[in-house]
This record gives sequence, structure tokens and C-alpha cells, in this order.
Amino acid sequence: MATKRLNAYNDVLNRTPKSVELDGKLSDLFGTLVFHSDVMREYLPSDTYKSMMEAINTGARLDRKLADQVATAMKDWALSKGATHYTHWFQPLTGTTAEKHDAFLKPIGPGRAIERFDGDMLVQQEPDASSFPNGGIRNTFEARGYTAWDPSSPAFIIGKTLCIPTIFISYTGESLDYKTPLLRALNCIDKASVDVCQYFDKNVNKVIATLGWEQEYFLVDQALFNARPDLMMTGRALFGHAPAKGQQLDDHYFGSIPERVNAFMREYEMESLRLGIPVTTRHNEVAPNQFECAPIFEECNLANDHNLLLMDLMEKIARKHDFRVLLHEKPFAGVNGSGKHNNWSLGTNTGVNLLAPGKNPKSNLQFLTFFVNTIMAIHDNADLLRASIASAGNDHRLGANEAPPAIISAFIGSSLTTLLDDLEKNIKAGKMTPQDKTELKLNIGKIPQILLDNTDRNRTSPFAFTGNKFEFRAVGSSANCASAMIVINTIVANQLIKFKKAVDSRIVKGEGKDEAILKELQVLIKASKKIRFEGNGYGDEWVKEAEKRGLSNRKDTPRALQAYHDKSIEKLFESMGVLSPRELEARREIEFEGYVLKIQIESRLMGDLVNNNIIPAVLAYQNKLIQNIHGMISIFGEKEGKAMANTQIEILKQVNHHMASMKSASEIMLAERKKANAVEDVEEKALAYCDTVKVHFDEIRYHADKLELIVEDELWPLPKFRELLFIR
Ligand code: ADP
Ligand code: MG
Repeated sequence: MATKRLNAYNDVLNRTPKSVELDGKLSDLFGTLVFHSDVMREYLPSDTYKSMMEAINTGARLDRKLADQVATAMKDWALSKGATHYTHWFQPLTGTTAEKHDAFLKPIGPGRAIERFDGDMLVQQEPDASSFPNGGIRNTFEARGYTAWDPSSPAFIIGKTLCIPTIFISYTGESLDYKTPLLRALNCIDKASVDVCQYFDKNVNKVIATLGWEQEYFLVDQALFNARPDLMMTGRALFGHAPAKGQQLDDHYFGSIPERVNAFMREYEMESLRLGIPVTTRHNEVAPNQFECAPIFEECNLANDHNLLLMDLMEKIARKHDFRVLLHEKPFAGVNGSGKHNNWSLGTNTGVNLLAPGKNPKSNLQFLTFFVNTIMAIHDNADLLRASIASAGNDHRLGANEAPPAIISAFIGSSLTTLLDDLEKNIKAGKMTPQDKTELKLNIGKIPQILLDNTDRNRTSPFAFTGNKFEFRAVGSSANCASAMIVINTIVANQLIKFKKAVDSRIVKGEGKDEAILKELQVLIKASKKIRFEGNGYGDEWVKEAEKRGLSNRKDTPRALQAYHDKSIEKLFESMGVLSPRELEARREIEFEGYVLKIQIESRLMGDLVNNNIIPAVLAYQNKLIQNIHGMISIFGEKEGKAMANTQIEILKQVNHHMASMKSASEIMLAERKKANAVEDVEEKALAYCDTVKVHFDEIRYHADKLELIVEDELWPLPKFRELLFIR
């Protein structure tokens, strides 16, 4: 076997599970590394504690003196846990998290120093972060961006460092991260939902969006990973024939978890629990070596911080167990990819889940209100929702018969479909009689029962109602959930505001409150009908049907991102105060740019692997064949020797054909890449990369993968899928 591959293979065979022992109960670990409210109560004077809680709940600003007190408390707590440094932890638009560590240490004389951390250091910091993407908002040579504390997400300790969740903004106040617009959107949904809740319950004064994410990922042995430059550099295998045995036997899904994997899971779960991430669920996923982890849902901003933390933890801890975690949406062609379901709902300060049917007709009408408005929001903003999940990686999944298609639609189940259809028909024009109202209420009162036996589940829908929440399933596994959450919360808030206006004006015109709500819901049910789809989202019929309905099907990232040009999107974000036109433009630019870079790296790497790995292996094999053929001829003479070497000659030809075709497609790709690189405008460049560079990937790969099947196994340099996916 080629040396690198053989060494990697042997490394794997020698691995043993590295279990971490737990001293005590799991619950003892929970939140021990988090500066949460109980710790604050212990470390802060009681009035400071109250102000801090208020700042967390209302977003009110802390004054300088309070910030100093909180900083001191944080420092004392962090030192007691062995921390030596602190960092502002933020989410630049690269998609990962960023940190810059500073010591608490301050020299105060020759040979003397103290631990210092004050309010200023807590509240604001200027990381030298000039090379994060900023879409032209911040010229690298001018003022830097700064980070500002987000008190609504508690500080935590990783290793020896106190991490303070922060937003990241430019000096001119524009957001350069995911958290800033997310917090703005969460504020919008809070206000808009509280206003609508007033129709039903005057005690509601706060509504939080909740997010429960489910993270899928692959594990690959570290040695095999290191022998695959494509996995190392792009997170996915650019080459590799599907293994003889893949996921067709379905024997991996929910199967027993291999011991080495289990040891890894245990350790990152224990670390997660210490950081307050309520991870509870783990299982094997559909593909071999694919797994899933899910926590209990939390407030959206916190849940998102926790997802980013978890991804980071997984990567770090995987290495300790000689694994590498692949968060890419499609690491292995021919095997299922990875997603990140975003379960989303709304919860009130009175403890009500607004997307769960209630116990009486009144609370059911409230449920129906939020339910129907959400569907309307999806209907009106499908393109925006699609854009929010666009990435080069996710392009491999959406519409590939394993993940929801690139067409946005909503699934609600047959019972709710019947109910909405009834409401649409049965609400009569003109004033409702008391009998009409009683009938409708009776109907609505039945929702909990009908949902109880509503067991239908549709795995193929991108946006599915699952009984007490919506599940956005089209999000990519490596994505920052904020991107989707910013959009969902903004569009639903916007829709609720419109709804409130419409209902209020009906009430002014003399309709009763319930009647006004019901009639307005009817309008929305009718208007949003085309976004509802209960059938198989993977089928070709749906693509045709969706086209008939006028739904978009934006199949690749550049096309999906073009939606951002729509003036109504700009207006929406601006009027809701979530993103200014400049911020939106910057984001669009960054995303086009990010797409170009990803495809560019993949394309370069393909060229490298063709030239440096695959062709040399093919040549070595050809030489063996040639030697053999020569040998046959020298023993048996020209005619008989050739006849006897017929198979070898055929293989030689085959191999040569695939090598030549692979190489020539690779040369064409290179020429196209050069052309694309010369394109100035970033959007056109992204389109060029998509339409003229990426299009050659499949052909190059086709021939390379054929060669993998023909060339002698011993000579093949890259670990094969059967090794990457089945050895552990
Ligand atoms: P499954 O979808 O696998 O059957 P569940 O329905 O229990 O499992 O939940 C799936 C995910 O939905 C979990 O991560 C859970 O935390 C989340 N979830 C449950 N309720 C809510 C809610 N009200 N808001 C947001 N997420 C929720
Ligand atoms: Mg799910």
C-alpha cells in the first residue's frame, strides 16, 4: 500500500478508546464553568445583582460603576477556577468564533504585579481584528472594529480563559458579526409577539424565541484524515469512489455506538455540561461514521452561542481521541450529508409555548394566530429564508434526495391542514352570528386532541410543524444558526406587526376581537396556501408542482444570494432595525466572496491531487502492466505473448483513457479558473465560479474515481471511503 496510506491504516489499528472517568454524577458538572445567576448572586452585592438581572432581561445598559462591580466579581470567580486570561468571544462573519486572550495581570512596580480586570475591559475591547471579512464597511487601514459585552449570554471558562460573549461592530456602529443582528431580531420578535399576546393575555410582557438545534457530524480517524489533503483543506473528500457497502443496509442508524466514539462523546458532553450546554441526546446517524448530538432547547441567543461553543469543543476534543470531526455538509459523495435542524418556537414570561395548542379555545386561538402568521411569514419571505442557509457546502445537500429541496415550503400535517381548510371555508363574509362563532370555537377547541394523534411526520419538508414548534431542516451542519434565526425572527415579527394592524383596524370598524382575529387569519390562510406542501419533498413531481405554484427553486448559492438584491428585503431589514442597507450589502458581498474562496480552494486542490497523487499512482500501475506485457512477449514471442496479455493491454488502455480524460478536464478547469479570477465584481465572480469552474468537478472526479477502482489497491495513495467510513 502507498506508504502514507499504509502508515495511517496501521495507526488506526493500534488505537484504543480513551475513556474519561466521571467522578460523581453528570448533574454535578452542570454549569460549573459558567458565571450564571446563582454565581452572580454569590459574588455580587444584592443591588448590583438586581441591576444585572434587569440588564439581562430587558437589555438595559449597566452604568460604569456597576460594570466595575460585575467585572471584579467575574475576575474573582474566574481566578477561583484557575483562570489566568480573559477574552472577548465573538462571531465574525467567517462563520466560526474568534477570541484574543489577554492576561488579568498588571505590573504595579518592579517585580510586583496584581490581577486586574475592570468594567472598561469587560464592556468593550478593540481586538486587532482588521482582517475579518467586513464587506468594505471597514477599510483595513482605518479604525478597527470593537467588541462589546452581551450581558444576556453568561461568561464561561474554557481551559484557563474567561470567555465573555460579545458583539463585534465597526467604529461607525455597523455590525460585523452574527450576534448583533440576531439580538436585534430577537428584540423585534419579543415586542411584536407581546403586542399580539395582549389580545389573549394582558400578563404577557416578554416573549423569547427558543432554539433547539440538532447537530450532525462525521468522525474520521486523525491519521486517515491527515493522509487526505482534500479533507484537511476543504473539509470534504473531493475524490473517492462510494464504498461497496454504504448506508444501504441502514445498519448504522441508531445502532450501537462504537467504544472509541463513545469515549469521545462522553468527554465532549462532560465539557459541554460544565459549560452549561444541556446536551442530552446522542445517536448514530444514517451514514456510517455519522453521528448526531442535540441539547434541550434554550433561549435563541444562548442556544446559538452554545452551538458555536459545542462545534469548537468537538473539534478540540476529537483530536484528543485521535479523531477529526467533519462539520462539512457533504464530506462524502454518495453518502448522506450533515444538517443542523433548527427547532424554533416562542415562549412567554407566563410559561406558555405560543406554538403549542392550549387547554381552552382562547389559548388555541392564540396558538392558531402565531401558527398561521408564521406560515404567512414563510410564504412572503421564502427567498430570504433560502438565502439565509446558502453556502457552497449546503449546495451539495439541498435537493439531493437526502435533505429538503432548495424549494422552501411548510409542512403542517393532515389534521391542521383540514382545520385550516375548514377555517378558510367556514368563516363567512359579513358579520358572524353567535352560532358561527360558537361553531368555530368548538372547532378550534379540538386542536389539542387532533394533534395528539397527529403522528404524521414528514422528513422531506424544509420547514415542518412538529406539534409544538417548527423545525427548519434545511440549515447546513457547519452554519452559524444565527443566519437562519435572524431571518425567521425578523420575518415573523414583521408579519405579526402587520397582523396586529389589520386586526386593530377591523376592531375599530366594529368587529368583535375574536371575529376580527378569525377573519384576519382566514385572509392569511388563503394568501399563504401555496407555501403549504404535505407531499414528498424529494420527488421530481414536487419540483414541477412548485414551479406551477410559482415557488422559487434557487439551486445554488450565488442564485440564492441574489435574492438580497430585492428591494423589499432591504426595506424589511431596515424598517425592523435589524440590518441597515449598508450592513445588508456588506453581508451579501462577504457571502459571495466566501463562496468564491471555497470553490477556488476546492478547484486548486483537485488540480493538485490529480497531478501529484493520482497521475503518479496511475503511472506506477501502468509501468507494472507494461513490464508484464513486455515479459509475456519476451517469453512467448510477439504474437502469442500479445494475445496472452490481452487483459493487461485492455486495462492499460482503460487506465490511460481515464487518466487522459481526467487530466484534460482538469486543464479546462484551470483555464476557466484563470478567467474567473480576472472577474472584478464579486457577484459575477461567484457566478463564474459556479457556472464555469465548479461544473468540471464532476467529470474530473468521475474519471479519478474510476481509476480508484481499477488501479492496484497497493498503489493507491489516498485512504479510500471504506477506510475513512468504517475503521474506528
Ligand atoms: P425529535 O424531533 O427528535 O422527535 P423532540 O421533538 O423532542 O425530538 O425535539 C427535537 C428538538 O426540538 C430538541 O432539540 C428539543 O430541544 C427541541 N425543542 C423542543 N421543544 C422546543 C421548543 N419549544 N422550542 C425550540 N425547540 C424545541
Ligand atoms: Mg429533528
